[in-house]
Amino acid sequence: MKNIPELFGSMVFSDAVMRERLPAGIYGALKETARQSAHLDLETANVIAETMKDWAVEKGATHFAHWFQPMTGITAGKLDSFIAPAEDGRVIMEFSGSSLVRGEPDASSLPSGGLRATFEARGYTVWDTSSYAFIKDGALMIPTVFCSYSGEALDKKTPLLRSMEAIDRQARRILALFGETPARRVVTTAGPEQEYFLIDKAGYLKRPDLVYTGRTLFGARPPKGQEMEDHYFGCLKPRVSAFMKELDEELWKLGVYAKTKHNETAPAQHELAPVFTATNTATDHNQLTMELMKSIADKHGLACLLHEKPFAGVNGSGKHINWSLASDTGVNLLEPGETPYENAQFLLFLMAVIKAVDEYQDLLRTSVASAGNDCRLGANEAPPAIVSMFLGDELTEILEALESGAEYCNKEKCDMEIGVTVLPHFPKDVADRNRTSPFAFTGNRFEFRMPGSSFSVAEPNIVLNTAVAEVLRGFADELEAADDFTGALAALARKTIGKHKRIIFNGNSYSEEWQAEAARRGLSSLKTAVDAFPSLISPKSVELFARHQVYSRSELSSRHEILMEGYCKTLHIEALTMTDLVKGGVIPAVIAGQNEAAKLLKRKKACGGFNCSLEEHLLTRLSNLSARLLDRLTHLEETVSKARPARAEYYRDAVLPAMTELRAVADELETLTAKTLWPLPSYAELLHSVI
Ligand code: ADP
Ligand code: MG
Repeated sequence: MKNIPELFGSMVFSDAVMRERLPAGIYGALKETARQSAHLDLETANVIAETMKDWAVEKGATHFAHWFQPMTGITAGKLDSFIAPAEDGRVIMEFSGSSLVRGEPDASSLPSGGLRATFEARGYTVWDTSSYAFIKDGALMIPTVFCSYSGEALDKKTPLLRSMEAIDRQARRILALFGETPARRVVTTAGPEQEYFLIDKAGYLKRPDLVYTGRTLFGARPPKGQEMEDHYFGCLKPRVSAFMKELDEELWKLGVYAKTKHNETAPAQHELAPVFTATNTATDHNQLTMELMKSIADKHGLACLLHEKPFAGVNGSGKHINWSLASDTGVNLLEPGETPYENAQFLLFLMAVIKAVDEYQDLLRTSVASAGNDCRLGANEAPPAIVSMFLGDELTEILEALESGAEYCNKEKCDMEIGVTVLPHFPKDVADRNRTSPFAFTGNRFEFRMPGSSFSVAEPNIVLNTAVAEVLRGFADELEAADDFTGALAALARKTIGKHKRIIFNGNSYSEEWQAEAARRGLSSLKTAVDAFPSLISPKSVELFARHQVYSRSELSSRHEILMEGYCKTLHIEALTMTDLVKGGVIPAVIAGQNEAAKLLKRKKACGGFNCSLEEHLLTRLSNLSARLLDRLTHLEETVSKARPARAEYYRDAVLPAMTELRAVADELETLTAKTLWPLPSYAELLHSVI
């Protein structure tokens, strides 16, 4: 048995390692920099770099890299070895403070959404001292932010850190009003539940659609999908279990708190959840988790699929982001608490989240928008594209009582009067579970269930943090100016609940009735990613992000452009993969199938006296379907050829339907063609490939 506490974080240049290895003065200077209260000078950086290098070399590292999170959705880094020529023809291992602090990748080779047209191509990676360096694959990875020559963010980490600062500033104003011992810092916390599929690598490699696009673009429904409901929490298959064990260990070495693992609903679907951490750490760790899932799967002869909907007809994968706020004094600000005093503070933060989600529903929707997530949201296993919140009956009743000033009948004590000074004691579980809600209160945090499995934790959090910061700002302005705090708080509660309760829905969000009800309530329903993208550059969004210094107008435009471009490119590649597969695989298979049937028919007819109805029936169906296949193939090819870059509406309205039509015919042909002839492993083979 391995010693887990010893293994844990063994590849991380953690606080403990720094304290042990750095001179006390240098360690202190670094901590101040991490708290953004001081600048790091080059001499100090040189000492830290030298110490880091010695530590990394002892652990077998030969290279270092600035590790960053550009707008590609994955991480990036260029590896440089530590070697430097010495005079006698030998080398020494060297790492300077300047190499630690700043790098200069070419910004023009990574998505910049037009920022590089107006500014220089040069980009900088700058050491993010709030995140620990670590060793991966023999390289010392230094977490960095990535920005343009003129300081504009070109990554996901910079705006995330800015949004965390924004909410920190406003939340501390609220805490001060409640006379809390002043918190030095309020951080947002995130615990991302990561869903994924594992299939056999051999089958994966035979599916160019999976290899190029991450999802199957063809595939007739298998005889057994998820209808038996026998996979969720089921016994782990030995290969899966071995994969999960190695994954846990590798994650632990990197200081990731991998905690929960289990089988998910669909066959071949699984989940991993870590213990929550501060959102910036959670974002880094989730990227590492996704990377390791892929590389470790490969070692086990498996392929890990992180697409939101790898298979039609079975559940897709999400990344449920559990979110809360915590003060550095150790208080979870969304914990209902035991005392009325704490409850008032809790209720104010709760109302801030309610108002933020209602006011900025469109932006939250945008933060989870992608071509991949369009395949999942609104399907029968995932929340619809409408943002709503679940609070549970208890909290909803309390809020109703607060709004009307009526008495709230607590289960334990029925005569409790509701004022803001006298609030109910909450029972242990203030909310039941609702697995259909896009944004559910789960006792002491919210669970945002719309993000897709391949998403970065950053984007949904940037929106959530900034939106809540904005509402807290308004609350603090109002309450700070009030002479009668209690009265002002009661009035604020009444006003806020009255105006924003429409966002609360405790029923089944997957039902059709909810869609109609949501429309009646005036909630926005941005069905596709293309509908959602423009919200990012709306005047409301520009104002929000500018006020809290999270995104400038040009940063927002660049992100909008990257999203639109990404959407079009995704669909373009999917369409080309389809036409390629049909021409190079499906058509030859269908011709071979018809040829066999025709040959047999001819022979039977030549001999006379045989019943030929099967061959005749098959040939007729195959001929009709292949003619239709050709029509639809031609249509898709023509549609794609007319597409102009970055016309997302066109891709959604013309290319996507043409793809769906082509798939329908191909899938029917699959059911009529011998498995030995069909060019692709079937759904059944893929979904049940790991035994
Ligand atoms: P579920 O029952 O929703 O599937 P899991 O145990 O899979 O729950 O995941 C719950 C996640 O919520 C974990 O990552 C957990 O650490 C996280 N979590 C718990 N408390 C908080 C909090 N205060 N802030 C953020 N995340 C939290
Ligand atoms: Mg879970």
